[in-house]
Amino acid sequence: MANAYFDHNSTTAIRPEVLNVMLPFMQSQHGNPTSRHIFGRNARDAVEDARAQVAKAIGVQTSQVVFTSGGTEANNFAVHGITAGLTRNGFEKSQILTSAIEHPCVGKPAQALQAHGWQANSIPVDANCRVKMDALEALLDAPSSLVSVMLANNETGALQDMQNIVALARAKKVYVHTDAVQALGKVAVDFNELGVQAMTISSHKIGGPQGAGALVLDKRVDIEPLLYGGGQERGLRSGTENVAAIVGFGTACELATQHLQEFQQTTTALQAKLDAALRAMDATIFAENANRLTNTTFFAFPNIEGETLVTALDKAGFAVASGSACSSNSGEPSHVLLAMGVSEDLARGAVRVSFGASNTAQEVQGFLTVLQQEVARLKQYSAIAA
Ligand code: PLP
Repeated sequence: MANAYFDHNSTTAIRPEVLNVMLPFMQSQHGNPTSRHIFGRNARDAVEDARAQVAKAIGVQTSQVVFTSGGTEANNFAVHGITAGLTRNGFEKSQILTSAIEHPCVGKPAQALQAHGWQANSIPVDANCRVKMDALEALLDAPSSLVSVMLANNETGALQDMQNIVALARAKKVYVHTDAVQALGKVAVDFNELGVQAMTISSHKIGGPQGAGALVLDKRVDIEPLLYGGGQERGLRSGTENVAAIVGFGTACELATQHLQEFQQTTTALQAKLDAALRAMDATIFAENANRLTNTTFFAFPNIEGETLVTALDKAGFAVASGSACSSNSGEPSHVLLAMGVSEDLARGAVRVSFGASNTAQEVQGFLTVLQQEVARLKQYSAIAA
């Protein structure tokens, strides 16, 4: 059997339709959108068409979409830009609250702002990876500027109760940003329904190319740019647009909306098969009782290293992750699992499967056969070593 790819939360293959719309902008239509000639005008039109596609997918107006180089930049932009905008408008520096399970590109910029007079605090989560509402409410007693909580967690797939989070924050007139990078294409994402003031999305998690994303903003948010220069993106994000990637991102957004139901149906069935087998094998499934993305299962077996299992599965042709893509090189147990109260030992065993709509029940069956063999083999080793 060919290699099976079960790591869609890390990145996805570009959809063929997306690649097709991108190619001309890397070849004959190579203009810079700021140029006045026909090449430039065509590039400008293509970027604006893509903006309309992105805006439609999440229910906003085109003027609310600021293209960035991806989710990391959009999250940094949200944290730095919103806080800088507030100080420019005369507000005192106050508290920034980010959940304990955020991607580092949210938590780290908040921490960096501590050197500039802000207080960064973490909102705890429960054993199911869900923000503790009472803790958030208590934290919001201190003067605050921004709450950032991700819509879906990249490791466990847990979905947050944004309605309640937004209600608590807005009662104190605090801005809410959500990182919807992992939610887009997997659940319906409507900016206005969420009620947030800023939202991050990224192209390469939804069948688009790497290197494109967007920060979506409520019109009333006065944000300070991260990058100054030629004044692209209405002065909010200077730098020549990555036209081909933006064009691909637009089409990927459109297709993600069209195929959402199919994605959910396919991955729900695959996840049910996987989870049932894992339970029968006495694995721990993290955030098992949370409302989870239908494509994501994060699990561990006691006394079996996640890295070892991932390597064995890779050899057998199954691509899975041992944690989030960026933290898997660090050797540190996942900060998400630790925040959920999982022991360091069990967290070191964590393995993440994230399906896409192209995966099949046959692939999952093949995976389970290998997993059972490998777990039995590694259990024997750990019994000898003990
Ligand atoms: N936010 C989340 C939840 C992610 O999973 C990722 C990527 O893994 C990012 C942000 C970063 O996005 P990008 O890779 O587009 O910079």
